Formats: sequence, structure tokens, C-alpha cells
Amino acid sequence: MDIRRILAVWTAKAACSICRHMGRQGVTWAGKLALAIYPPILRELAAEVRQKIFIVCGTNGKTTTNNLLCSALETEGVKVICNRTGSNMLNGVAAAFVLAAGMNGKIDADCACIEVDEASTRHIFPQFKPDHMVLTNLFRDQLDRYGEIDITMDILKGVMDSAPQMDVIVNGDDALSAYLATECKNPSVTYGISEPVADASDIQEIREGRFCKKCGARLSYRFYHYSQLGDYACPQCGFARPSIDYDARDVQMGEQLSFRVGTEHIVANYRGFYNVYNILAAYAAADHAGFTLSHFNQMLKEFHPENGRMESFRIRDTAIVLNLAKNPAGFNQNISAVITDTRPKDLVIVINDNEQDGTDISWLWDVDFDRFSGDEIHSITVSGIRCQDMRLRLKYADIPSILEADVESAIWGRVVDGCGNLYVLVNYTALFSTRNILKKLEGERS
Ligand SMILES: [Zn+2]
Repeated sequence: MDIRRILAVWTAKAACSICRHMGRQGVTWAGKLALAIYPPILRELAAEVRQKIFIVCGTNGKTTTNNLLCSALETEGVKVICNRTGSNMLNGVAAAFVLAAGMNGKIDADCACIEVDEASTRHIFPQFKPDHMVLTNLFRDQLDRYGEIDITMDILKGVMDSAPQMDVIVNGDDALSAYLATECKNPSVTYGISEPVADASDIQEIREGRFCKKCGARLSYRFYHYSQLGDYACPQCGFARPSIDYDARDVQMGEQLSFRVGTEHIVANYRGFYNVYNILAAYAAADHAGFTLSHFNQMLKEFHPENGRMESFRIRDTAIVLNLAKNPAGFNQNISAVITDTRPKDLVIVINDNEQDGTDISWLWDVDFDRFSGDEIHSITVSGIRCQDMRLRLKYADIPSILEADVESAIWGRVVDGCGNLYVLVNYTALFSTRNILKKLEGERS
């Protein structure tokens, strides 16, 4: 083995551990260092995975789906490499492999479950060809100013064509994802929800991808689940929702969610209709790849969402749930999840406009905040760089809010004077810092 490969592994591990001591994430930096020291390291390490490499792509739900898939396999005794922190560009993906390697510079793993940013697939696929790709959905991220979805679809089509052996586990309820799967020659299986679900579709929201990608006509829908997900057909060219291989039936929402798929009855203690898709996608991927899933429900019971995906904290007597809401579809789903909790609650909404968030935050006008006008909303505090814009947006929905630009003060204020049940909804660049604040407050003041 090339001595530079061992050096790269050691350096990355050291860099990552230094960052962790300093309270930083350091994962992407570790990956960058490893690739700089030994460029073929990702290709070589990925080739040592004994069985299957899964990747998870799509606008929303990547991290949760990928982590569920990883946990489902691990519960069955499979040894898995995973980028659990959600670092999903080239450096982050390299880091997942490098940090999982032993001090001898070698990988000892049966599988890899890797979430990959759609645009970064171009840099990942030349390094390794996955065996399976999960495609969760294609939503507009913030604003679709530059035909963002079309560009993303072109990129994905390119990489799918470059890996014709790879099969695709695709959300059949999303016309965009399903169209992409039919355009490529890769073998595919579908998952979806074939019947309307109560409470899932009463949202007034902007629906993207309503037009047929094949011929441009307006799709007709038998029903919507949320955003553009639903049962669609093109009246002009015949393009339609494909038949569904993994069909969730008898979907029940509330304190917990449950559904049936095949002979399996799945129960999870999460809120959020979108989690039905996340769980279903992970189940479909593992099952389709031939793994037994006899402990799937047990895994769901023990699964702890990480990194601000419905992550729970407790500060003094206040139970806090942190969740990422980075685009209209995601935010509307967050609102649905919050209002299924019928107890009184306080809300903190943190909106930043850094580069990764999209500096134009006018997408907030496409979110159905009116649904936060109910009596059980004790207070709403707006925070972050663009708290003024968020306050204005709520004002137009006739919803009063407390302005507190400093995130720590906003959260601590509601711990002190709130009703003990706090939801913190944040957009992308606010996630890591808000999570650190919550961890710090939990440690210091509990
Ligand atoms: Zn059509």
C-alpha cells in the first residue's frame, strides 16, 4: 500500500479530533486534507467495501433517510460506513470513508450508506459507482431562479447514465423523480403512498413540478400528499405515476405514525408526514438490496434523529425540538408536524441569508404561515440575520411575533417565560450554531 494513503488517514483522523476538541465539526476539513495528501484515497477505500454501496439523493429528507437506512442495516449485524453528520459534498464523503478506515489505512465494512448532494454527484461518481441510489424527491430549494431543478435533473441523469448497473429506488409520488427514472436506463423500483392521507394535504402551498416534464402539459392530480407529491397523470402524453412496488397503506398520523408495507406493519414515534416517506425509502432500499429486516421496528424505536432533524433537548423544565426548515416544501411539512402537537407551544424561527441558504429569502412568502394562527401557539419569536423579514412575513398573516436577533437570547427567553414546550425551526446555516447553543444551554443551565 502507498505510504501516502496511511499518512492521509492518520492526518485526517488527527485533524478531525483536534476540531472536535475545539467544538467544531471538522469533517469536511479532514476529507479535504486526505484528498490533498493522497488523491485516489476515496476511490481505493470505496473499492474495499465488501457488499453494497448505497447513496441517497434528493432535495429533502436525505440525512434522515440515509441514517435510517444505515441503522436498519446495522441492526441486522451489517458493518456500515455512513456520513451521519450530513456532510454530503466530495470532502465530506471522502471523510466518511477515511475516518472509518483503520490505522492500517484499510476499510473493514460490508456496506456504505452515503448521502450525496445532487450537484456533488458529478465529483463522487468518478470515484466510485454506487450499487443503489435512493431518490427521495426534487423540490425547489429556496428560489428556482436559474432553472435549478432542471440543472439538478440534468446532473443526475448524467451520473445515472454513467452507472447503468446501479439501480434506483425512486419516490413514485414525485413526478420529477419518476420522470428522471424513466428517462434513464437504470433498473428502478418505486415507493409511494397510493391513497390520500387525512390531514396531509390541507395545505395551501405553491406546487412545483406541476407540469409534465415530457410534454409540458399541466399534470392532472387525483390527489396531493404535499407539495407536488401525489397521484398524477398527464392528460396529453400519457406519462403517469408509475405502479408502486413499495406501497404504504393504512397510513396513520398523530402522536406516532404507522403504516403497512407488504406484510410489514411499521410504527414510529415521530411526527411529520414526510417521515413516512423517509422510513419507506429506507425500508425499500434495504429490502430491495436483499437484506433481511427482522428488527426494523425495533430500530425505529431506538433511532435518534441527529443533527437537528426533530432532535430533542431539555433545558430546565422546557422540552425543546429542533428541526431544519430550508425551503417551502420543508417548511410547510414542519408546520404540519408542529400543529399535530395540540399542546400549547412556543416557537422560535431562525432565518439566515448566508450563501448556502440562498441570499434571497423571498421563498418565505411561499410558506403557509397562516396555520400558526391557532390558539395553541403561545408565542412566536423570530431570530437570526433576517429576523426582520420573518417578522414582516408573519405580520402579513396577522400573527404577532417577538423580535430577538440573538438566537441564544431568543431560546433562553422562551425557556424562562414560555409554556414548557418549545419548537425551534431554523434554516440551513442556522442549524449547526443553534444546535450548539441548545447543547450548551442544556449542559449549563439544566
Ligand atoms: Zn405529458
